[in-house]
Amino acid sequence: MSELETNLDLANNYLQRFKDKPTGHFIAGKMEVPAGAVTYTNTTPCDQSSLGEVVRGTAADIDRACNAAEAAFADWRDMPGAERKKLLHHFADKIVERAEEIALVEAMDCGQAIRFMKQAAVRGAANFRFFADKAPESRNGLALHQEEHTNFTLRTPIGPVGIITPWNTPFMLSTWKIAPALAAGCTIVHKPAELTPLSAMLLAEIAKDAGIPDGVWNTVNGFGEDAGKALTEHPAIKAVALVGETATGSHLMRQGADTLKRMHFELGGKNPVIVFDDADFDRALDAVVFMIYSLNGQRCTSSSRLLIQSGIKDKFIAALQERVANLRVGHPLDPQTEVGPLVHQGHFEKVMSYMDVAKEDGATILVGGTRREDLGNGNYVAPTLFTEANNSMRVAREEIFGPVLTTIEFTTEEQALEIANDSDYGLTAYIWTESNGRAMRMARNIETGMLWVNSENNRNLPSPFGGIKMSGIGRDGGDYSFDFYMETKNVCIAHGTHRVPVLGR
Ligand code: NAD
Repeated sequence: MSELETNLDLANNYLQRFKDKPTGHFIAGKMEVPAGAVTYTNTTPCDQSSLGEVVRGTAADIDRACNAAEAAFADWRDMPGAERKKLLHHFADKIVERAEEIALVEAMDCGQAIRFMKQAAVRGAANFRFFADKAPESRNGLALHQEEHTNFTLRTPIGPVGIITPWNTPFMLSTWKIAPALAAGCTIVHKPAELTPLSAMLLAEIAKDAGIPDGVWNTVNGFGEDAGKALTEHPAIKAVALVGETATGSHLMRQGADTLKRMHFELGGKNPVIVFDDADFDRALDAVVFMIYSLNGQRCTSSSRLLIQSGIKDKFIAALQERVANLRVGHPLDPQTEVGPLVHQGHFEKVMSYMDVAKEDGATILVGGTRREDLGNGNYVAPTLFTEANNSMRVAREEIFGPVLTTIEFTTEEQALEIANDSDYGLTAYIWTESNGRAMRMARNIETGMLWVNSENNRNLPSPFGGIKMSGIGRDGGDYSFDFYMETKNVCIAHGTHRVPVLGR
């Protein structure tokens, strides 16, 4: 039996229960399929076959979940931080126990290759452990001294919050958003992406199993326009954290206006990787390939625009061409696979439409540009490399969100900066140069929330993660997450020495 066949067997065993009966919601500690619920079919991008029916949540379901989160809030808020820490570590242990199941279910549901997904549980657990350790200090504030007064700040959890997640790496992103909310003392209502609901249900099961009190964690499945919308409009919900498309961020802003929701947005990107003539060629090449073709290019921080300096352009593109043509596209459960199928047929068609856009714009399709017909009915795109592009082309301006790289030549540092910044987006940038001075100048002037110098995207949980411009509002990571999920109160204490103003004496 090949490793693929073994993985398929295991995956089918784990997936069978989702096929046997509809997947519903997790509300107030109970798994439920509401009476008369409408369902939709969840398919796998490997071959479009069904992974089972999923309940399309309604405003009434959201209402029950929000009320449960509200009812559970006071006790969770008042639980000592050390106890929340223990519970969240216990939760992380339980994630690790189910690592194999999480990896296989996730890969079949969203099409990400198992070589990346097998770390999903470990990374998800790490997110929980990091914020668990911070739970006891979450209320800490500042002391701000004046001559005759002392101010101090303290923080309290904002209340029940909504967490809305996308389909690209659903498990990882759910843990990344939920862990700080719970550590801060907020209760949550999670609305996972409709295209990839399964790992969110595993998380909900683990929450119950780990002893997270009923109502602290609620999950409602369904679509953005009904369940998602109702969540953002619900008066019990004090803040909403969204990871998704830029257009969705705009919808949420409008939907949350009447209840003045605090919003945190992690949105799209068209991230430049700038490779200068003096770069370490081989390391830069590895990173450029990794940062657009790993995770099927369905990654917010993917470097989808390569800005390449004229001196090394021909050599770099030739090396890139060879690498991209060599990428192993295949079934996500095959350990050899580097690029799997795109999450859904609709998304696959969107990505494929950019092949025509590139031709119309006048770019060259050096590698790929086609569907991988040989791989059957799945959403398999041949990894694609566009060259001879310029920054005004749609393939350089729009987020394609697939294994597709657009290459643009530049000559000077100033020009590289101008092209990099000429974008509606501002999530992250990557630069490759041996010059510290240039790295510092770019760091100062680049219009993004993050910059990696001589590195691919490297995870550091205390660091701020997030974008500017149309890529988002707010930062995740470390204490930045607590700032979002908590209110800061200032307390000012007089020393008894200052002159109180006197009126009407
Ligand atoms: P999407 O915006 O279509 O959906 C994200 C979530 O929002 C889903 O759960 C969806 O149901 C919900 N939603 C949609 N409309 C809604 C509405 N009106 N009200 C409430 N909820 C609504 O995004 P997607 O296609 O699932 O994910 C891909 C996008 O996510 C890409 O643009 C990608 O760049 C972005 N992303 C960003 C980051 C980041 O950190 N910046 C990370 C991962 C993905």
